[in-house]
Amino acid sequence: MVGVDAPSRAMPGPRVIFLGPPGAGKGTQAARLAAHLSVPRISTGDILREAIAAGTPLGRQAGPIMEKGGLVPDSLLIGLIDERLGGQDCARGYILDGFPRTLPQAEGFEGMRCGDAVAEVFVFNVDVPREELLRRLSGRRWCPTCQSTYHVDNNPPKKDLLCDREGARLIQREDDKETAVARRLAEYDARTAPLVEYYKRRSRFHDIDGYRPVESVFGELTAIVGGGR
Ligand SMILES: [Zn+2]
Repeated sequence: MVGVDAPSRAMPGPRVIFLGPPGAGKGTQAARLAAHLSVPRISTGDILREAIAAGTPLGRQAGPIMEKGGLVPDSLLIGLIDERLGGQDCARGYILDGFPRTLPQAEGFEGMRCGDAVAEVFVFNVDVPREELLRRLSGRRWCPTCQSTYHVDNNPPKKDLLCDREGARLIQREDDKETAVARRLAEYDARTAPLVEYYKRRSRFHDIDGYRPVESVFGELTAIVGGGR
């Protein structure tokens, strides 16, 4: 189907939703695809941080919840994303990274002001075997000084657990420790996995094998959505 719906003046560009468990590589692929297509990548995490920093009404509601490590309510997230997708830069398409994560969020997406027909949205369900997810997530290390990320197997620092840039000692974030990883995966199974069934019937849905090199996953995605502009 490549090329059948090449973007034109009359048609909005590609809109993409990524599904898949933490550690499947969605963030990396979303960023690359957004750059390739010259469309914004809309990350829920970034939007929340920006709204909180800017002190918008929705940001003021989300701030205290996030400080306590709680889950931001669906209604609030839907409001933030709705606002963002109304932006001029989204008219030519966008990549959603981290939204929707629940059925109410998916339903909220369909009611948004941008009015994008969900049947035209590409949904990539990136999956990876569970033991590989555990290996990827628990091996992550982070530099508290410059925020660089490493992986003990895939992308180790040159010197044992010290940042290549300024030599700070790398740490494992709370979110990447074993119990937190188990909790994140259980949360994914309970809240987000049902979206696979939901989107299979409503969108241009594609199962993507994420247990491959980043480059070959990306090659498949671009073959599906078409080339850049
Ligand atoms: Zn560093």
